[in-house]
Order: sequence, then C-alpha cells, then structure tokens
Amino acid sequence: VAKTILRGNKFVDLTGYRFGRLTVLECVGHYENDSHHRWKCRCECGKISIVAVNHLRCGRTRSCGCLQKQLAGQRARTHGMTKSLEYRSWLAMRKRCSDPKHPLYHRYGGRGILIDFRWLGKNGFKHFLDDMGPSPSARHTLDRIDNDGHYEPSNCRWVTRKEQCRNTSRNHRYAFRGLDLTIPEWAERIGMKVSTLNSRLTLYSWSIKKALTAPIRTSLASLPVAGNRAGS
Ligand SMILES: [Zn+2]
Repeated sequence: VAKTILRGNKFVDLTGYRFGRLTVLECVGHYENDSHHRWKCRCECGKISIVAVNHLRCGRTRSCGCLQKQLAGQRARTHGMTKSLEYRSWLAMRKRCSDPKHPLYHRYGGRGILIDFRWLGKNGFKHFLDDMGPSPSARHTLDRIDNDGHYEPSNCRWVTRKEQCRNTSRNHRYAFRGLDLTIPEWAERIGMKVSTLNSRLTLYSWSIKKALTAPIRTSLASLPVAGNRAGS
C-alpha cells in the first residue's frame, strides 16, 4: 500500500471525522488496482481497523466489527424470547386485531382496535418489548388501560389476571340482540344484580346469552327485542 494523497479534488481528508463508532486517524493510501483510499480508524472499543473510504462514506462500515456482533447478540436474545410470555402476548394481540377467524376478533380488530405501527412489521416484537419491558411475572398479562383505546405504549400495561378481570368487568361491552352494553348497564336493563352478572361472565366465563337468560330472578321481558346483530 503506497501512501498517496492524490486524485486531484476527488480526495477528501477524513481525518478526525466520525463514522458510527469509528474515528478516522489517518489515510494509509490505496491499492494499485483500487482507487479507493484506505483510512486507519480507531473504534470506540479501542481496536484499530483499516477501512476503504467508500465503505465509510456510505455507512456500510460503522465499527471494527463489534457493532455487528452486538446487534447479532441482541437479535439472538430477542429471538430467544419466542416462547416467552411477552412473545405470546404480542402474538395473541396481533391475532385478536387482525385475524377475522379469531374467536374474539369482533371485540378487537372487528371494532377498530388498532396496534401501534411500531409493534408491527419486521422488528415489531423488539419494539413492543422495548416499550413494554418484560412482564413482571408469569401471572401478568397485557392489558389496555382504556378498553376502547388502541394497543399502543401509552394505553398498555402488564397487569395480573385479577386486575384485568376487574378492568374487564368495568369496561367491556357485551353484544346481545343488537345492544352493546357494559355489565352494569346490562344488569340495570334486565334487573339483575351487577355482582351476579359479573360472576357469570368473568368468573364462570358464561356466554352473554346464557348469563342474561339463565333462570334466577331474570326477567326475560326486560330483554331487548331481537335485532339485526346476533348475540355473542
Ligand atoms: Zn469496535
């Protein structure tokens, strides 16, 4: 390698410039069959490497190689979480919102609940994990603070199933015979105790039809007349 500072005004002195983790120290010339100058650079990690000017300027080389190793490690860690609670929560969220065949689609994607675009796409899970952090325990589950809001960082949190049940019973709407009401609204409508209806729906996981119509002081006459929408 012959040290040359030639090629007329094509040559730009890069000494002192930074490209990612690399700081340019000096030019070490170029090969006979390749006019691209080589630059000696010091990486943030302390290693010295020789990099061709075109690779520096187009951003292809931004470290001595330590950056790629670190990114590969991060990808491996993210990938290693595919069986984790966080990954399963992320996947389930996506299915509820985008797969019309999902049994709960009508309560999510079907009524316009959207997912933050950063949580979709190639690095969607990584962004989701960065924003939400790891789940505090295996008993925690992904929850939307406002049940009519979207899946986005400001509206999501990890809660225990018990906390979510409480939230669900307060905000969830149950569609039946053309009406879409919360548990307290349904309870008032049919003259049932809120606690009874709440238990039937959230504790015993009955269908809304069964919860509203199964006998026990339930007045069927107070139910709305059948409408266009089927009960769920
Ligand atoms: Zn390095």
